[in-house]
Amino acid sequence: MKSLFIIILSITPFLINSQTKYPTNYFSNPLQIPLILNGNFGESRSNHFHSGIDIKTKFKEGFKVISAAEGYVSRIKVSHGGFGKAIYINHPNGYTTVYAHLKKFNNSIEKFVKRFQYKKQSYEVDLYLKSDDLKILNNEIIGFSGNTGSSSGPHLHFETRKTSSQKAINPLLFGIEIKDTRRPTVNSLYLYKKDKSGYISEPSKVVLSKINDSTFTTEKIKLNSLVSFGLSGFDRQDLANNKNGIYEISTFLDGNLINLMSFDSFFFEESIKINTLIDYSYYIKNKERILKLFIEEENDLSIYSKKNNGFVDVTQRTSIYKIKASDIKGNYITIDIPLVYDKTIKKITTNSQNISYSKLIDNNLKYDFNFKNSSINIPKNTFLKNRKIKIEHFNDTLKIINPYIAVYKNIKIKFKNPNSNKGNYLAVKDHEGNESFASSKLNPLNYFELKTKKTGLYYIINDSISPMIKPIKFKNGDWVSDEKYLKFKITDKESGIKKYKGKINGKWMLFEYEYKKNQISYEFDSNYLSKSKNEVEIEIEDMAGNSFIKTYTFYRDN
Ligand SMILES: [Zn+2]
Repeated sequence: MKSLFIIILSITPFLINSQTKYPTNYFSNPLQIPLILNGNFGESRSNHFHSGIDIKTKFKEGFKVISAAEGYVSRIKVSHGGFGKAIYINHPNGYTTVYAHLKKFNNSIEKFVKRFQYKKQSYEVDLYLKSDDLKILNNEIIGFSGNTGSSSGPHLHFETRKTSSQKAINPLLFGIEIKDTRRPTVNSLYLYKKDKSGYISEPSKVVLSKINDSTFTTEKIKLNSLVSFGLSGFDRQDLANNKNGIYEISTFLDGNLINLMSFDSFFFEESIKINTLIDYSYYIKNKERILKLFIEEENDLSIYSKKNNGFVDVTQRTSIYKIKASDIKGNYITIDIPLVYDKTIKKITTNSQNISYSKLIDNNLKYDFNFKNSSINIPKNTFLKNRKIKIEHFNDTLKIINPYIAVYKNIKIKFKNPNSNKGNYLAVKDHEGNESFASSKLNPLNYFELKTKKTGLYYIINDSISPMIKPIKFKNGDWVSDEKYLKFKITDKESGIKKYKGKINGKWMLFEYEYKKNQISYEFDSNYLSKSKNEVEIEIEDMAGNSFIKTYTFYRDN
C-alpha cells in the first residue's frame, strides 16, 4: 500500500504540467544558425492548424539541416505542393522529427530517392523506409534548407510527432530554446450573446483599455443574456517581429476557470476543425480570424484541458470575466471585463438568416440532388450542424452556395459534358469571383466527376490553348558545357499544368518541377551519359488534355 502511494505521488506532477511530459534535452537545433521563427505550432492557417515551427533562414536557401538526434529515415516525401522535399526521422525515444521544404537532400539520401524516382519515372515519390535503410547519426547533415512545395519564402518547417500515432506535438515543448520575453498581443476583443433558443449573435467589438504592459480592461458590459467572447491576436519572440500564434488562452469568471486551450498537440485528422474554433463566417467576410472562447457542439478539438461551453450567465449580479493569453515561456497578458446585469437591455433577436440560402441540410441525413445535367451527393455530417444552403442547376450552372459555412466532408459532384469538344473541363467560381479548374475526369457516362469541399458556381469551360515551353539560359543548338542544370520555363494560360516529362537522348530523366517559378530543371548527374551532341525532349500536358512536345539540341563536352 505504501509503495502504491509513492507511485501516485511521483506521477502527479506529470499530470499537472504538460510541459514535463516530453524529454527536454533530447532534440537539438536542426539548423546551425540562431532559431528565429516566422511560424508557431498551432497557429491558424487556411483550413488547418500549423503542425510545426517555421524557422527563418535569412531569406536564403542552402543552410545545412542537421538531424535533431540519432535515428533512421522513416519516410521521404517529394511533392510539387505541400512539404516539397521532406525527410522524416524516427528516433529511439518514440518521437519522429520532420524537416520540410528542403532544397536538396544529403548525398546518400539523394541517391536513395533518385533510384526510386527513376524506377517510377516521377519526381513525386512517397517512400516509407525500413529501420536499416538509412541510419542517421546525431548531428548528421541530412540536407539543405530551401523553399520547395507550398512555401511562401525560404524557411525550414520543423515538426515533432509521436511516432506511434503521428500526433503532432509542439516542438518547443522539447526544450528547443527560442529567446522570448515579449508578451502576446490582443488585436481585437469581441462580444457574443446567446439567446434561449441557442442562437448566437454576430460578434461586436469591445474597446480595450490598457492599465499596464500586462493588464487590460474594458468598460462595463451591461447584459441580460448569456455572453462569451472571442479575440484575435498574435505573439512575437525577441529576435524578430513576425506575428506568430498565441500558445495558450484561459478564461475565468470571478476567479474560477471556465476554459483552457493550449497548443501542445493535435491529430492531423482534427486539423480541419480549426473552422469550428474560429468564427468562420466573420473570417470569410473580414479576413480576420477570431478565436472563439466558447465551444460549440461541433467543436471536439483536443486542445482543451478544461472544457465548458464558455457562455456565462450573470443575471442578478456583477461579475468579472477574465481572459489570460500566454506564450510558451509564460509571458502573458490579462483582460478584465466587468459584466453587469441590466434587465433594460434589449434582448437579441434571432435575425432570419439570409433567405437566399433556402435549402435546409439536416446534419444527420445524407442528400442526393439530381438535376437534368448534374447531381450532388452530400454525406452526413458534411457541415457538422444543420445548415442552410442554396442548391440549383440553372442556365448551365450548378450552384452550391453559402460561402459563410465551412465544409468538413467531401461533396460529390457529377456534371454532364455537353459536347465532345477537346479541352472541356469543369470549372468552379468562388464567392469572390475567382475561377479555378475543378475536374477533367470523365466517367463512362460522359459526366465530369469531382469530390470537393469547395462550394460556389460550377460550369463547363473550354481550354484550347496548349501549354508553353521555353528554355532558360540556352538556345537550341547551344553548348552548355559549363551549366550545372538544364532548365525550362513551362506555363499554361488556363487550366494549369497537369504533367510533364523530360527525356535526354530518348531516356527519361529526372526534371524537378517548381510550380512557384513555373520551372522544371535537370541537374547533370551520373544518369546523364556524356555525348557531345544531345537531344532533350520536353512534353507537357495541361489539365484539359492539351499537350505540347518540343525537342532541343544541345552540346556538351563532359
Ligand atoms: Zn510550416
